[in-house]
Amino acid sequence: TTSPPSSARSLASFVHGQWIHGQGGTEVLDAVYGAPLARVSSDGIDFAQVLRYGRETGCRHLSRTTFHDRARMLRALASYLLERKEAFYQLSFHTGTTRRDGWVDIEGGIGALFSYSSIARRELPNERFLLEGEVEQLSKGGSFVGRHVLVPREGVALHINAYNFPVWGMLEKFAPNFIAGVPAIVKPATQTAYLTEAVVRAITESGLLPEGALQLICGGTGDLFDHLEEQDLVTFTGSAATASCLKVHPNIVARSIPFNTEADSLNCIVLGESVRPHDPEFDLFVREVAGEMTSKAGQKCTAIRRVIVPRSVTGEVVEALRTRLSGVTLGDPSREDVRMGPLVSAHQRNETRKVVEALCGEAELVVGGEVPELRGGDWEKGGFMAPTVLLCERPLTANAPHELEAFGPVVTLMPYEGEQEASALARRGRGSLVASIVTYDRTEARSLFFGLASAHGRVLMLNRDNAGESTGHGSPLPQLKHGGPGRAGGGEELGGLRSVKHYLQRTALQADPTTLMALTGEYVRGAQVSEDAVHPFRKHFEQLQVGDSLLTHRRTVTETDLVNFANVSGDTFYAHTDEIAARDSIFGRRVAHGYFLVSAAAGLFVSPAPGPVLANYGLEHLRFIESVGIGDTIRARLTVKSKTAKDTRPGERPTGVVEWAVDITNQHDQLVATYSILTLVERTQG
Ligand code: NDP
Repeated sequence: TTSPPSSARSLASFVHGQWIHGQGGTEVLDAVYGAPLARVSSDGIDFAQVLRYGRETGCRHLSRTTFHDRARMLRALASYLLERKEAFYQLSFHTGTTRRDGWVDIEGGIGALFSYSSIARRELPNERFLLEGEVEQLSKGGSFVGRHVLVPREGVALHINAYNFPVWGMLEKFAPNFIAGVPAIVKPATQTAYLTEAVVRAITESGLLPEGALQLICGGTGDLFDHLEEQDLVTFTGSAATASCLKVHPNIVARSIPFNTEADSLNCIVLGESVRPHDPEFDLFVREVAGEMTSKAGQKCTAIRRVIVPRSVTGEVVEALRTRLSGVTLGDPSREDVRMGPLVSAHQRNETRKVVEALCGEAELVVGGEVPELRGGDWEKGGFMAPTVLLCERPLTANAPHELEAFGPVVTLMPYEGEQEASALARRGRGSLVASIVTYDRTEARSLFFGLASAHGRVLMLNRDNAGESTGHGSPLPQLKHGGPGRAGGGEELGGLRSVKHYLQRTALQADPTTLMALTGEYVRGAQVSEDAVHPFRKHFEQLQVGDSLLTHRRTVTETDLVNFANVSGDTFYAHTDEIAARDSIFGRRVAHGYFLVSAAAGLFVSPAPGPVLANYGLEHLRFIESVGIGDTIRARLTVKSKTAKDTRPGERPTGVVEWAVDITNQHDQLVATYSILTLVERTQG
């Protein structure tokens, strides 16, 4: 077990490359024993200098790296932190979290770094900018085109975090801004800043990040907001009250500084009316509710606050929750036999008790009160609070259970009759991060989902088929959007590349195709190409240039081609084989198979002998535009569209991916098919 801390230590901020201790400051108490743990102060920090250092030094160093360089750094950093996780767990116990809860914060946070590293290497080019969408044709003649180009903002991302996830909260926000190439300033909540500080110390010791990429402020933000500029951004997680005060800071408004909010959310879970108490879904529902109440003692922004149940089974739900929650052992979270620790502080527990009292104006207490046994710790000095269930009999007319967030192990049951009532209750949260719907009836699932989706950032459909592998109601995932509309703040975090794009400026670039190609490094149809006597398949990765092109010889399609291809493929669709039916078809004649054209084009453009092109591993954006009939003559143009060098693993040949644009045309120079192929091409150097 942990023991009460012997003395409070002073936390430092990491700004402009130095660790700086503030004067005096706020005393932070241990969550379990209420003993002094740390002193937190940012007094004496020159915030204008912090921002300048981020914008100048941080941006300068990051601008020398590509998305892939940063992805590699993030992966190395994740491995480095993982090796040191035990020290973080020991500190995490002081925040009141069990090892299981700490796993979500510590390894969940490190996991976000790994995830963003692979998302970036998989979905982003090895470049300093990102091209979005397709080239837009803006003129008839094709000489004027447009494309969206995303470049890193030349400012600093200021992340203001909540106390409940001192590690994950920092890393899940840092990963996307870092991949984008934007430096960050992290300001953790004072209450748990000691854990964030420990992780930032490890990060700086690793030496893996470029100078200026990450700064830390322990304590208040002073006059920092006054010095924010147009290229900066702010993200905030915490109470709706603080959010609404900060996002209207005059400087934020005057300079249109993006402000992403994730605030109070009265998330719900709905039990379908089709579920009977003996069904597996009933048990899954009760487990999910109890799990969300007790994990991190309910201090998760995604935790369930409102439990929407069919009126006919309310009694059974109350009993099942009472039984399940009575088995939860409270106490010092570092003990292995303890399932739920205290809230982060006695203060936070007292605040939550006040909210419960307010809720009792419109609901009655059905499970709660103090539990008889507490392992280690002290009920009053520590932030302990027993799991508490309230029942609101008239939820459609009540207000408090839809308005007040009891940020602890507290839920309110709300009986309903009919799907419409269930959805209406869910929507009374006025916008939430997440809702869960528990039912095995897909018709009911569908109407509940569409009944409440518009008010929710994420919806989990839980049933016996997915329960074994479901990541649960309360877990935001790096691949999926985290954030909700309305009172949840209207923000958006995570969600794969979506969150990286918040740190990039989207610029609509309009130009002629050749200029667009020169600026973006990607071939655009209509741009000037360069042709060479040497076949492009005979060139190594380094020798190939974007715009290198080959116009093939021609081939006249014959009746024999159609018959042979029908036989080889087994595709005897009437439009290729039945003279009479084909005459009545939309083509008015027998036409070649689309796949024949793609195959024939390969026959036209390949250089068959062994060479640097090692494999064809995919085809994208295929469109058949004009039909090709017997007697038509086709040819292909093959052009290097883009190039990406691949990381070389030990023992592997160095290679790169070359994307080729293929256009097949007919004897009238009309485009009949267009697509891209992806090939693996050997590099001369590793
Ligand atoms: P706060 O909104 O008070 O604090 C959140 C963050 O904002 C902290 O880092 C805090 O720093 C900072 N902050 C507060 N005031 C300012 C200011 N004027 N200028 C700059 N930064 C500021 O939330 P708490 O953490 O105290 O939690 C209070 C309640 O918020 C909880 O009981 C819960 O209801 C809700 N909450 C909701 C969450 C959600 O995501 N849904 C998450 C966490 C809390 P400091 O700690 O130094 O004051």
